[in-house]
Amino acid sequence: MGRSRKENRECSSPKIDPMANIRKAAHEKLDCWIDELSPLLTEEKPPTLMEVSTRITETRSTLTGGVLDSINKEIHKHLLTQKQSHCPKCKKILMRKRVDNKNYNTLQGSGSIERPYYHCRDCGIGFHPLDEAMELTRSVHQLDIEEKVLKLATEMPYKRAAELVSDISGIPVSLSNHHGHDTLCDVSGIADLDIVVPSQEEIEQRIEEASQYYPKEKPVLVVALDGAYTPTRPRSNRKGKRGAGEWKEVKGVRLYLPIEKGRIIQIASWHQIQNKDQMLADIKEIAKLIPTEKVRIALLGDGASWVWNTLTECFPDGKEVLDYFHCKEHIHKVAEAHYDDPVKMEQWVESAMARLSLNEVDSVIRGLQRFKSNPLESDELDKLITYLSNHRGRFDYDRCKREGIPIGSGAIESANKFISHIRLKRSGAWWVVENGNGMLRLRCALYNGTFDRVFDRYRTKKIRQMETNG
Ligand SMILES: [Zn+2]
Repeated sequence: MGRSRKENRECSSPKIDPMANIRKAAHEKLDCWIDELSPLLTEEKPPTLMEVSTRITETRSTLTGGVLDSINKEIHKHLLTQKQSHCPKCKKILMRKRVDNKNYNTLQGSGSIERPYYHCRDCGIGFHPLDEAMELTRSVHQLDIEEKVLKLATEMPYKRAAELVSDISGIPVSLSNHHGHDTLCDVSGIADLDIVVPSQEEIEQRIEEASQYYPKEKPVLVVALDGAYTPTRPRSNRKGKRGAGEWKEVKGVRLYLPIEKGRIIQIASWHQIQNKDQMLADIKEIAKLIPTEKVRIALLGDGASWVWNTLTECFPDGKEVLDYFHCKEHIHKVAEAHYDDPVKMEQWVESAMARLSLNEVDSVIRGLQRFKSNPLESDELDKLITYLSNHRGRFDYDRCKREGIPIGSGAIESANKFISHIRLKRSGAWWVVENGNGMLRLRCALYNGTFDRVFDRYRTKKIRQMETNG
């Protein structure tokens, strides 16, 4: 293929290549790297594919780290050579006080930079302008490493997460659980509900996406609420002694749009170890983000009264559905005590569930009252009758099925498992409530698709702190 005349002219003109320095540095680094790899060809036993790949992973930062370093130095050339700068506070011109060395580590490898330092005596602040421009943090490991380790640490202990990042990237990353604890506190401190839960605009987009599966009517938006227990402990005292552990309830809400074949579109999950009033306040905030005119809201829960008080207060127009399986479990328990014949028992349970599905609650209650001839059963019977009366109107499963409304709260129970249990119930783990809640917020962010935004807020806060502290 011939080149156009214009391109030819450009190539022949003696223009300075802005990449020239980087290109030169990269070529040098490439040569160094190839030298590092050369023993592969002289080994007595020829290395396997995996061995070659591992060696490349372990050594490639010679090239990538070198390229990163030279790109940085080119981009920030003016800051590396400047002799004066303005005080960020009083704007006075300051003379360079000294040059400080900084070693840093990124996912591409390590680098080293000599950058000017300024000090304003009037304002009492000292600063490196380059750090601000590059967003170079105080620690050796920079933000790209921190982000990857943190993301993994939502699945496993922090130290293990650092080891894994190191293993995969070939970059030595040594971060302790202690460092992880501090980072987790910092990040979860800014991971508030307003950032962990998607924005109104994002929620509308997800509803729009679900609409194509509902050609004739508005999509169903399910709000499911449930509690699950998790191990907690008080903070260690000054002598490092830990008090006795205690199981506390993690309250979790999940909002989602069922689409087809058991698939759903996630709107938001929010799980916290907190009391019912705090949970109510949080769900009210989430409810404000929902365009109720664009969806049919269905409320799903088990029999707990706080669940229903919360759901109906936050979504007064929602269609209330008592979890089918919880309901059946209660019915089953009573039938088992009453019938000796298992076939008759099953028949009665099926018939009771069928009547409930048609919302014929009174017919089931009348049947139960006839069981009362046996006084031993009356306690459990009374409980079931109260349960059915309390949840009257939350049973019409037949209509729900016709209208595409789910009748089982499996989606919130599985959310409890994958958001809370998997991380919080690792063997031997007892969580201080604040830390457990921090971890829960990060895990919710991961599942809500908002983790990057959370990290971005953390990054901004960290950079701002650096600026003010100098
Ligand atoms: Zn100043």
